[in-house]
Amino acid sequence: MLVGAHVRAGPGFSLALSHGDEVGADAIQVFTQSPRGWKPSPFSGDVLSRFRESLASHATIRRVFCHATYLINLATSDESLYARSLDCLLDNLRVAREIGASGLVLHAGSHRGEGFESCVERVASGCRKVLDAAQAGTACPILLENTAGAGGTVGRSFTELARLIEAAGRDERLGVCLDTQHLWASGVAYRDADEAHAAVEAFDEVLGLGRLRCIHGNDSKVPLGSGRDRHANIGEGTIGGAALGWLLGHPSIQESTVLLEVPGAGKGPRREDVAAMRRVHAEGLASWAAR
Ligand SMILES: [Zn+2]
Ligand SMILES: [Zn+2]
Repeated sequence: MLVGAHVRAGPGFSLALSHGDEVGADAIQVFTQSPRGWKPSPFSGDVLSRFRESLASHATIRRVFCHATYLINLATSDESLYARSLDCLLDNLRVAREIGASGLVLHAGSHRGEGFESCVERVASGCRKVLDAAQAGTACPILLENTAGAGGTVGRSFTELARLIEAAGRDERLGVCLDTQHLWASGVAYRDADEAHAAVEAFDEVLGLGRLRCIHGNDSKVPLGSGRDRHANIGEGTIGGAALGWLLGHPSIQESTVLLEVPGAGKGPRREDVAAMRRVHAEGLASWAAR
C-alpha cells in the first residue's frame, strides 16, 4: 500500500511534488483548482504536461490523485447548478487526465432532502457524460467518495455507491474512494480483525474490491455513527491507531493507496502525520500476519 497525503499544488502546480517530498509521501492528492470556487483551472497545457513528466521520473512519488471542487453537486434538481457542476467536473477531469492522475475523487453531492432515488439517474448520467467529454480512459476514473452521512449527501453506504455505479451501466471508468473517517461516522466499525474483515468483505460483495482505487486515511473527531465529517490526526481521534491498522492492514486491500487529509497543526498533513500512518499501517500488517 502506498502511503501519502493531500498537498497544496501551489500557484504553478509543480510545487505539489516538492510538497509531497517534504512530508515523505509515496503518493499525493491535489486540487486541480480552488476547491471552493467555480473558477476553472488557470494552468496551461505546458504546465500540466511538464508536471506529468516530472511525476513519471520522480524518485519516490508514484501516484497522483486529484480531488474535485466541493461546489459540484450532481445530485441537485436545480438545473442551472447541475449544468454548472457538469462543466466544472469536466474541467477538473481534463486537468486530472493531463497531469497523469490515477483518479479524480468526487463527492457526488446532496439531494437536499428530495431522497436518494430521486437523484440516482442524474448522478450516474452526469458522470458518464463528463467521462465521455473528457475522453478520460480507465486510467483516470472518477472515484465516488463515501460520505459521513450528513443531510442529503449521496454515497453514505456501499449500497448507495453501488446503485450509482449500476445506474451508470457499471462503467469501468468509475471507481470508489473510501474515506476511513466517513466510514466510521456512517456507522461502520472496524475495531478488531472481525469487524475490519466484515467491512472489507461488505465492500467486496456490494461494490467489488476492483472498484477501490484509493483510501482517505483519517482519524475522527466525532464518534462512530455520528454522521459528521470531521477529520482528526492519526491516533488522536475516536477511531485510534489500532482500528485504523486492522482496516488498512487487511491483506485484500494492499494494492490501494492511502492518502491523509488530516488537519496536522492546522495546515494539513505534515511529515509526522505521514510517519504516524506508516506506523499504523505496518502494525496492522503485522497483526494480520500474526493471526
Ligand atoms: Zn476524504
Ligand atoms: Zn471528510
